[in-house]
Amino acid sequence: MWKLIKVSVFSLILIDFRIWKGQNGHLTFRELFRTLRRFFPDLMKFAYLSVIFAFAFAACQKPASLSVVAPTVPKPEAAQRIPLKTLAVGLPAPTWDATKKANLESETSTSIEDTYTKIKTSKKVIAITFDDGPHPQNTPRLLDMLKDRGVKATFFVVGNMVRYNPQLLRRMVAEGHEIGNHTVTHGTLSRMNDSGLRKELTEAHQQILAATGVPPRCMRPPGGAIKADQKQLMLREFGYPTILWSCDPKDWQRPGVDVVTQRLIDGAYPGGILLVHDLHKPTVDAMPRTLDHLLGQGYTFVTISELIAMDES
Ligand SMILES: [Zn+2]
Repeated sequence: MWKLIKVSVFSLILIDFRIWKGQNGHLTFRELFRTLRRFFPDLMKFAYLSVIFAFAFAACQKPASLSVVAPTVPKPEAAQRIPLKTLAVGLPAPTWDATKKANLESETSTSIEDTYTKIKTSKKVIAITFDDGPHPQNTPRLLDMLKDRGVKATFFVVGNMVRYNPQLLRRMVAEGHEIGNHTVTHGTLSRMNDSGLRKELTEAHQQILAATGVPPRCMRPPGGAIKADQKQLMLREFGYPTILWSCDPKDWQRPGVDVVTQRLIDGAYPGGILLVHDLHKPTVDAMPRTLDHLLGQGYTFVTISELIAMDES
């Protein structure tokens, strides 16, 4: 609007000053307009209409005072510490019975590593992990498949996905699965400073806790990108061990249902951690055959916390 006023004032000044000289003396803009109107009446009508429209358009613009300002989100305290009773895997899962809880606390609360890609075990157990959800269609379908087979899994959820489907997290917990922290924005943690890292994890932790009443007990860095000192910080302040994987079928590249199935079957071994994404439909499509095959080989699927509790190393 200011721009338009400035242009108008400048034009009036130009009209009042004689800025164009004819051969027979001075000619003002006013005289020039008169001449143009005489010879080009249609052109002048168009010019007048354009000026009127320009003013009408400017008058209809929303004044700056009414512009919508994005609501400001209160900043969480940078160094907020999550009050966890014991280290991550020492916390009881909501579906575990009392005996199991007692065993876990005594066995594991003092022996958590800061990183796991697999564990050493003499039992034929394996953990399957689903990242980047919950997805509104794929995740419920996957939960049905897991329920039908009695398979327990771990979901590394993203806060920005949790906010749209918190009820899916409640279903996961109710059906015996574990939920891990996979940050709010799926940002690259290795490029963040400590306060950025704390913010990502704290917000996601609180979202999961608010949705389910159960705090996450482990985390997976997006893309596996994490620095050694960051892992120690997360274990110290959040009680989270960093969970990586022993088998990555690269399902996010969508190589096809058969390829994903084959890579998971080939990459499975006792104590291993399988990485897949319930964000992708073909990955979920690959699950019935993958799970049935591994169950047929005698594997028992356990959650990440259960797997860590079985570590014999
Ligand atoms: Zn991810």
